[in-house]
Amino acid sequence: MLNDIGMSAAEFDAAMHLPHASQDFLTLAMLSVGIDPDNFDTLEFARDHFLSRTCITCPHRRKCHDHMQAFDFEGHYRDFCPNSENFSKLLRKRCDA
Ligand code: SF4
Repeated sequence: MLNDIGMSAAEFDAAMHLPHASQDFLTLAMLSVGIDPDNFDTLEFARDHFLSRTCITCPHRRKCHDHMQAFDFEGHYRDFCPNSENFSKLLRKRCDA
């Protein structure tokens, strides 16, 4: 499973010490910005661009969590989210389809 998301066991262990380590912010973030996380193209893009790895190792998980709690992630994520450019690409792909 770690191979699938491009992580070593040591990286995963380190990530488990980050805030809110057990929470899946990627799915919540996608839903919040208007991306269908279950769409085939989304899943393929996420795998090819290691979006899960970026989320699991993200240094901004606490800020991400706070914005999720406040339901205003979509208005602020471009300022701090390391996946923001990937989300923009996914949103552009949706428009191009
Ligand atoms: S800020 Fe972005 S990359 Fe970091 S945990 Fe939240 S959604 Fe994932």
